[in-house]
Amino acid sequence: MEPQNNQRQVGDATAVDHHFETLCQVTGGVFYQYGPDSDRLSWSPQCRNMFGWTEAEMGLDSAGWWQRLHPQDRPAAPALLQDWLWRGGPDERQYRVQHRQGHYVWVADRSRPVCRADGPTVILGCLQDVTRDRQRRLQLGLAQRAIDSSINGIAMTDLDGRLTYVNDAFAKLFGVCGTEELSGRDVASFWKHSRRAMVVLRALQQQGVWCGEMIARRHDGRPLILQLSAHVVKDDHDQPAGFMASFIDISQRRRAERTLQESEEKYRLLFSCGSEAIILFDARNSRIVDANAAALALYGYSHQEFTGLSIVDLAEEPDQARVRMSQVEEGQFTHFPLVAHRKKDGTVFEVEVSLGDFRWRRRRFRAGFFRDVSERRRIERLKDEMLSAVSHEMRTPLTAILGYADFLQRSVLPADKQQEYLQVIQHQGERLKDLVDNHLNLQRLRAGFGVAHIQPVAVLPLLHGVLNVFSRAEDRGRFHIDCPAELPPLCGDENQLYRALQNLLSNAVKYSPDGGDIVLGAYEENGRAVLYVRDQGIGILPQHQEKIFDRYFRVRAEGHPISGTGLGLTLVKEIIKAHNGQIWLESTPGCGSTFFLTLDFWN
Ligand code: ADP
Repeated sequence: MEPQNNQRQVGDATAVDHHFETLCQVTGGVFYQYGPDSDRLSWSPQCRNMFGWTEAEMGLDSAGWWQRLHPQDRPAAPALLQDWLWRGGPDERQYRVQHRQGHYVWVADRSRPVCRADGPTVILGCLQDVTRDRQRRLQLGLAQRAIDSSINGIAMTDLDGRLTYVNDAFAKLFGVCGTEELSGRDVASFWKHSRRAMVVLRALQQQGVWCGEMIARRHDGRPLILQLSAHVVKDDHDQPAGFMASFIDISQRRRAERTLQESEEKYRLLFSCGSEAIILFDARNSRIVDANAAALALYGYSHQEFTGLSIVDLAEEPDQARVRMSQVEEGQFTHFPLVAHRKKDGTVFEVEVSLGDFRWRRRRFRAGFFRDVSERRRIERLKDEMLSAVSHEMRTPLTAILGYADFLQRSVLPADKQQEYLQVIQHQGERLKDLVDNHLNLQRLRAGFGVAHIQPVAVLPLLHGVLNVFSRAEDRGRFHIDCPAELPPLCGDENQLYRALQNLLSNAVKYSPDGGDIVLGAYEENGRAVLYVRDQGIGILPQHQEKIFDRYFRVRAEGHPISGTGLGLTLVKEIIKAHNGQIWLESTPGCGSTFFLTLDFWN
């Protein structure tokens, strides 16, 4: 195949050589000449700088030269040369040439055939080192691909905030099909509140960067929470040319954080506001690490003092507590129904303890739930006392009834004696009935069925009726009634009011072992009726006055024990409460007590 010589340049070869070489020197290139006919190559000395080889080492024929090429570029070289010789004309290609030190240099080989007037055609060529160019282009390409394939949404805008570029992730984030349709759109249209976008744009213009969260709007209108980092992009003259921003969808993270925060708040509330004392301690050494307000209040320590203690220090008997802790450690028990603990001020009280294990940051902790059961225990004790009091109360009248009945059956007695014993039996029977009635009444009142027949109740007859039960002939002079005749009728259940006054009067008698006057009175005050029962008995100490209406509460009388059940005043209070009334007392120990009730008039 003959080369197409007609396309080759013909000129003053020496002048061309000279110009070409000068050009190579100026541009830092390596100049070569190749004679296809002779297969001879010659190199300019710049090859030493560019490749580290001498001219001879560069290769003095094509085969020698090809040895300097990169193994990947080498196989194609002969065919390329042939092809080029055939086509003729200027040519440019890039390939790699090995440097003396082993690495490869990318070169751009620009050559053209020169037909010498005096001889054969030669090829003049110049090799330029384009390694940095290629690297830069490669890096640019990589950067572009990195941005395109980034999982974060990336957008670029001009200085007015109009989109000039967005990557696929950005389009996906906002639910748009292609990136093209977004070009030129105002970024403010992606914000839920476009005024906020203006604020950010202004901040960017002034400060050059902006980082923060934005509430965006997807194409379908759904809101999105995005983490936005934006900065100014400058041109070659260091002048602002636009903005670049990266968007990360943090909606899910925010939702998860909110849920976590809510549940944390809930548990914190449960922990800090719960009425049960909760103490958290290290399972290894029993050191207290946290305690809620109920625990601090129960034990009387500050949080700081508490966290310096061991759980064992709270027990009245620390040695026993240590045994309990080892039982917990061995998994034998997690619940202790009754344990004696000590408050900061030294008071000993009873607690019920439940323990649970948990792990936190690779450490084992225990949560202890401490319930103060002193009050429950007190009530249980009171109940026991009450039961024995009730049985004692019942036994006395029952013994009297049975004794007198037996005596009456077996003896022949004169009629007046029989009458007297029968009266005793009747009296004791009534006491028994009262006792049972008080219990049943209280239960009915507590269940809300106590006050059934509300009607006008005349006050004076009521007081007389109550008094008649008590005033025996011998102490009739002791009882007095103090009530204006014109007092309007009360509004209430007569039977229940009768029962309440009867209880107060019975107490007045019972707790006046040395006698004294007893007054049953009533008057009007502030549009309501005030009824009272006054005695000159033993009185009640101030510290007992508040508890006097509590169920089963009794003051232990020294010297002369007075039997009772601790139910009478509770019943009175419940009756008055059911009438929307109030009850209170005034009492001086050793001088007597007055119990007051307020009730509505009938109108
Ligand atoms: P009981 O009399 O059966 O013990 P109550 O409920 O009627 O029960 O009274 C409770 C306690 O209040 C009594 O134990 C007593 O100590 C005290 N108490 C009640 N009434 C009087 C009173 N008039 N004078 C002194 N103490 C009283």
